[in-house]
Amino acid sequence: EHMMDIRRQYCNPMTMKVTYYKKPVFLHQGYMQWLWDVDGKRYLDMFAGVATVSVGHCHPKVTAATEQQLKKLWHTTNIYVYPPLHEYCEKLASYLPDPLKVIYLTNSGSEANDLAMLMARLHTGNFDIITFRGSYHGGSPQALGLTSDGAYKYPIANGLGCTNTMCPDVFRGLWGGSHCRDSPVQTIRECSCAQDHCMANEQYIKQLKETFATSVPTRIAAFFGEPIQGVGGAVQYPKNYLKEAYKLVRERGGICISDEVQTGFGRTGSHFWGFQGHDVIPDMVTMAKGIGNGFPMGAVVTTPEIAASFAKGIHFNTFGGNPMACAVASSVLDTIKEDGMQQNSLHVGTYLMTELAKLRDIYEIIGDVRGKGLQIGVEMVTDKVNRDPLPPEAMSAIFEDIKDMGVLIGKGGLFGQTFRIKPPMCITMEDADFFLAVFNKSIYNYMEKR
Ligand code: PMP
Repeated sequence: EHMMDIRRQYCNPMTMKVTYYKKPVFLHQGYMQWLWDVDGKRYLDMFAGVATVSVGHCHPKVTAATEQQLKKLWHTTNIYVYPPLHEYCEKLASYLPDPLKVIYLTNSGSEANDLAMLMARLHTGNFDIITFRGSYHGGSPQALGLTSDGAYKYPIANGLGCTNTMCPDVFRGLWGGSHCRDSPVQTIRECSCAQDHCMANEQYIKQLKETFATSVPTRIAAFFGEPIQGVGGAVQYPKNYLKEAYKLVRERGGICISDEVQTGFGRTGSHFWGFQGHDVIPDMVTMAKGIGNGFPMGAVVTTPEIAASFAKGIHFNTFGGNPMACAVASSVLDTIKEDGMQQNSLHVGTYLMTELAKLRDIYEIIGDVRGKGLQIGVEMVTDKVNRDPLPPEAMSAIFEDIKDMGVLIGKGGLFGQTFRIKPPMCITMEDADFFLAVFNKSIYNYMEKR
């Protein structure tokens, strides 16, 4: 109780509610996919601190690399030459296709997206930016402008969350597909392809073209898109949708930015970056979260041409690319490769999706199972006919029950109706079975009481 009193009094008490606020969990230790609370109870972490602890809590290889650097050099700044920065940039660049080779290191995803916005405007000379409905690109005043409408918005400046003149004129008319009835745009359900997100592609591409013809400004600076929406609830796009959006954006002078904060570093399994699943090459990639396995870090990677347009002033970031962050991030990249984590994401993720789809066919309240690799969303509905979002109290009841049985997951979606499964990429098939049993039991318990 004392800990909760402190939290309520001092720690961001009104704008971020503690998850499991009915019976909070006091976490104090982690190892790989496991977390322990102060009473020694163990939890399977199926959320990874929001898709962040990509290779596992206190992974021995990452811990060793961190310890080594900790004893050598914590901080200087990037006006100097120091090995960890240069080793890391060279390594990261090798994971990206040409011409994406110029790297700017930041401390978070919001910072990376702020910088990307600035660079896009300088490069194109245009101002307007477009994003998807249901998107999340950050909580800083600028990145908040890119983030879709919803609870993250503040009631100022038309809800964009920013009053300064650099606030983007963001247009959010594109895809925001979701299966529940209240989705702000036409839902996938209307084309009855509950399992295959590709079947209605032509219909949606037509809609996309119409949107561009009628409502998108003729000159745009950039388009930001997550290859699979994260906070939005693992929302995927119809086949070729992103490819077509890139084409339309480029026709209007804009650059295409892939926000890989959640989908990068092998999480989607089939590819190292989410954009590779869409057959596109962006002009800029932003990343954070999994890049440092929990160490605060982010990055923007772009082309030499865009970097040259940016070279109209000096860009400086005290902590961006500090020796500690670079050493950690470098060992994260090595660990993903050495431990075969991307392949594991695909293997365990595919199994989870298959088994969750079976539960969807059994239970009336599981409306949709979607995602790729270990970026999974389970959308909950009142029933399969009306498809209203399952109300918050019901979501919370299931969520708390899952936690009581020893598994932590996340929640998201525009109405908080989607459970989010994004564990560290080291989880095993046994862990997947444990999670599935718990998830099944929690839904069963809820249905029994309903
Ligand atoms: N982009 C995406 C896709 C995200 O999910 C997030 C964080 N949830 C951000 C950007 C912002 O990252 P950060 O919280 O590190 O600023």
